[in-house]
Amino acid sequence: MADRDGFIWYDGKLVPWRDATTHVLTHTLHYGMGCFEGVRAYATDKGAAIFRLKEHTDRLFGSAHIFQMKMPYDKATIMDAQREVVRANKLDSCYIRPIVFYGSEAMGIAAKTLSVHVAIAAWPWGAYLGADGMELGIRVKTSSFTRHHVNINMCRAKSVSTYANSILSHQEAANDGYDEALLLDVDGYVAEGSGENIFIVKNGKLYTPDLTSCLEGITRATVIQLAEENGLQVIEKRITRDEVYCADEAFFTGTAAEVTPIRELDGRQIGEGKRGPITAKLQAQFFDVVQGRSAKHAEWLTVC
Ligand code: PMP
Repeated sequence: MADRDGFIWYDGKLVPWRDATTHVLTHTLHYGMGCFEGVRAYATDKGAAIFRLKEHTDRLFGSAHIFQMKMPYDKATIMDAQREVVRANKLDSCYIRPIVFYGSEAMGIAAKTLSVHVAIAAWPWGAYLGADGMELGIRVKTSSFTRHHVNINMCRAKSVSTYANSILSHQEAANDGYDEALLLDVDGYVAEGSGENIFIVKNGKLYTPDLTSCLEGITRATVIQLAEENGLQVIEKRITRDEVYCADEAFFTGTAAEVTPIRELDGRQIGEGKRGPITAKLQAQFFDVVQGRSAKHAEWLTVC
């Protein structure tokens, strides 16, 4: 990944990909205090367009605010920078990764004197959970690792440190031959996937866990809005793993995962064991919107 052509926006300037390096004493590398975003740009008739750029940028600034990391740039600069990175790398469609991290001025956990840095990279990235999974659905295992409690890691922040928990859960699921993990909260209720929000469909209604201990996903909000525009009722509530076993359909949402059907949880087939009709409809509508084919929600796309 490090040894390739292209450009990364690094502290206000585009630098060659290979030169976008940082010192081994970078504070965030040692203690995990940092935050990032995952954003996608899609190929549209008007060229590459970033999906919900403002919402992702707002969440990045919200994460930094939670951690009291003083952003050295304003939102307009970071929004422009994301567009610039897509253009500079001549990408039609891509994943965009802004990251905010502390410098290497000091070690120890007192972070007051540290500089704050921002880098933004972009690269092509296809279906995160596999092209087959998008059509056939994926196999998921409930994790033995618990999602963070609201008072352990801040759940509204998309923070670097959250992802050690995500990696542990994903590693476990993958080692056991599954595609993805489902994490429960400290009370044993369904929280989210290692990098996705979850929805289930039961008797024509959509259910998703409330936001207590999952990330406030931008794809989640998008799918809720699309579903409601279809006249579907969406209920945010505590969900148990056996409600997922007995659901008619289930799917994950995320910027990387987009809308990925789930066909199995813990060896139990969900519904017909394939992408269900409501999932298929929402997935198709999602792709129509992000790829600029829908008359609705042009406001969610920012041409680069
Ligand atoms: N939960 C977690 C833990 C995630 O990493 C992600 C991906 N950012 C999501 C949910 C989905 O969020 P979004 O739709 O904003 O990408």
